[in-house]
Amino acid sequence: MAGRFDGKVALVTGAAGGIGLAVAQRFAGEGARLVLVDLDADALGRAHAALPKEAQVLEVVCDVSNEAGVQRCVRQVLDRFGALDVVVNNAGLMSFKPLEQFTGDDWLRILGVDLLGAFFFTKQAFLHMPRGGAVVNVASVHAVRTTPHVAPYAAAKAALLSLTRSSALEGRARDIRCNAVLPGAVETPMLRSNPEVQSGVEHIDPQELLQPDDIAAAVAFLASDDARHVQGATLVVDGGRLSE
Ligand code: NAD
Repeated sequence: MAGRFDGKVALVTGAAGGIGLAVAQRFAGEGARLVLVDLDADALGRAHAALPKEAQVLEVVCDVSNEAGVQRCVRQVLDRFGALDVVVNNAGLMSFKPLEQFTGDDWLRILGVDLLGAFFFTKQAFLHMPRGGAVVNVASVHAVRTTPHVAPYAAAKAALLSLTRSSALEGRARDIRCNAVLPGAVETPMLRSNPEVQSGVEHIDPQELLQPDDIAAAVAFLASDDARHVQGATLVVDGGRLSE
């Protein structure tokens, strides 16, 4: 059976683990040529090894918050594959502190990865993507309803939704679709590395804790031609907690 991404070139940021790796696995299973982008070179190598042997994969170590690095990354993609059809802006950073303990540098670091990184890759997509391309931004339910101690993260994700809307408006003329997925709590290293989230997660019914592939399925839908008339959408994948 033909895959939805046969022959397409799909770039995933933050691809070394968690949701990004699950997205890469989905795309690989549906025929895409893959670009795995992450800051962590060792973890990137392990992620590559976890993909099917026959997958065509380019690994790029890149800090998404650095525009020159993002430009170099996309040049490498075009040199290797000659195209860029799908971009998934998934790289993200979360930090837990009471508001008064955050510094300006904390804010700039988080906004740099969670917001500017997505902008830099969307800009490159607009410059190089053919008609019919797709950008999917991995935001968070924190973009619309947040909890204490994650102020810069919640602000960055809310702004990412705004960027998604602007990109969708301007993407229409280029036939590039831009949409966002808003995950709830997903069992990934990001969740496990934050004791405060873990204590919150104890209150979540384990049945409601999402797995990375639950998000990957939504990302793959939005990136595929199945969603060819979906533009500027925000798809919440949280088991219904936001609508409580
Ligand atoms: P994760 O920490 O497991 O993965 C994030 C990846 O991003 C890591 O591999 C990390 O090395 C990479 N990264 C961080 N900074 C980078 C940079 N400057 N340049 C390139 N790569 C960088 O996290 P995850 O849980 O898989 O999260 C993926 C996305 O999903 C994030 O945007 C996160 O905000 C979002 N999200 C996660 C959850 C959750 O519960 N896990 C919920 C909602 C949204």
